Amino acid sequence: MSNKPTFLRRAAAALALACCTIGAAHAAATITIVNINQPGVGFNDRTPAQPVGGNNGRTLGEQRLIAFQHAADIWARTLTSPVPIRVEAVFEPLVCSADGAVLGSAGAIEIFRDFPKAPKANTWYPGALASKLTGTDMASQGRGHIRARFNSRLGLFPDCLPGSGFYLGLDRKAGEQIDLVAVLLHELGHGLGFQNFTDEGTGEFFDGKPSIWDHFLVDIRNNKAWVNMKNDERRLSAIGGATLSWNGERVYKAAAGILAPEPQLLISGMAAGATGGKHRVGDASFGPQLGQNAVTGELMPLIDQASGGGLACTPLSPANAMAVRGNIALVDRGACAFVTKARILQNAGARGMVVVENTDDPVSPLGGSDPAVRIPAVRIDKATGERLKTAMYRRSRTSSGVVASLGVDPDKLAGTDWVRRVRMYSPEEYSPGSSVSHYSVDTKPNQLMEPSINPDLTHDVLPPHDLTFPLLQDIGW
Ligand SMILES: [Zn+2]
Repeated sequence: MSNKPTFLRRAAAALALACCTIGAAHAAATITIVNINQPGVGFNDRTPAQPVGGNNGRTLGEQRLIAFQHAADIWARTLTSPVPIRVEAVFEPLVCSADGAVLGSAGAIEIFRDFPKAPKANTWYPGALASKLTGTDMASQGRGHIRARFNSRLGLFPDCLPGSGFYLGLDRKAGEQIDLVAVLLHELGHGLGFQNFTDEGTGEFFDGKPSIWDHFLVDIRNNKAWVNMKNDERRLSAIGGATLSWNGERVYKAAAGILAPEPQLLISGMAAGATGGKHRVGDASFGPQLGQNAVTGELMPLIDQASGGGLACTPLSPANAMAVRGNIALVDRGACAFVTKARILQNAGARGMVVVENTDDPVSPLGGSDPAVRIPAVRIDKATGERLKTAMYRRSRTSSGVVASLGVDPDKLAGTDWVRRVRMYSPEEYSPGSSVSHYSVDTKPNQLMEPSINPDLTHDVLPPHDLTFPLLQDIGW
């Protein structure tokens, strides 16, 4: 989802504020929603609605507003600030197609630097945070601190994700729909400061000055923070793949209690040769979760194609069935669903499934769902798959001399770097609005501030489930 600030006009250098005292720390913050929709649309849409999941609004507009207030209250209970936070909110048509959509976008309306009590000099802060830190409302007369937009057409029109509109209930039971409360929490997170004001596409600072974000963002290849880089270094750092991490103490400490160990494929055995050791995998949304007790067996390739590949989309030949029985099957991606392959291999007695990617893409999870699948499955990249096939070339009909263990790496948390810092989203192809200002998609469990909203999110923004608030604490909340 896009996170670019809608307005970023005010360079509030050298603000002279008369008074700057703050009373005792408040136990919470106040968040006010400023409904900027026109009559009859968005939050004012009078289409009748039935109560859903604890949301008893009587119109579509009322239900949207109730969901928004619910999300705002969760943030208000979490934050502390003596200055009420105003969110200018609107439901309006956003980018949409039949199979993809921008759910929403949000950001700071104004940013500030060198205000009284600013923790770091020459550094941009979002308006809501700057107001908290200085104890005075910094917003221009009459403006809010955050602007948030949400897609008013989602799921309601054939050209805008038909069938998967916003779920307006408050109880996390969104099913196949998109949980609006989770989307609202995510977008408010951006508006509160989970965003960079530096241009990730060019590497240029806003108005020549770094953002607070740049002090914490490090490239793990040279351990250099963005604040200390030149434009071109930042631009390249943003598209390095899995190369950016968050170097903040709160996130670092919280991650150990939130993130699960990283799934892995461990290869060993007489014939393993150079393929021996740990390999990155994408784990499966079906079948048993990978855990400390790895599922181990000899790796055996399945061959049911003239090319020498194996798809496992049809019941296995006797020779293939003999090869995979009691072993871990290696199959190629393609031609049928992952769960179909898994079920066919399971029926033949395989203990696990390794799917070889058929593109040059980095590994990603295996999607799908089928409660009948009881064997674990992972995806490896194409190059690793080819090396493993070569290592198994001299196998017998039931043994390859290559042993595969499907489990987790107890030394590594999912979505962290080599020193356990949580990684940020930095795909090799720059994705405006998504790159850099989100957590890595490799985090497990899924995090609120990943670039897309996953169906298994809680409505929590802080430990023990979520790393959003720890990051905001790192930048000054
Ligand atoms: Zn986002």
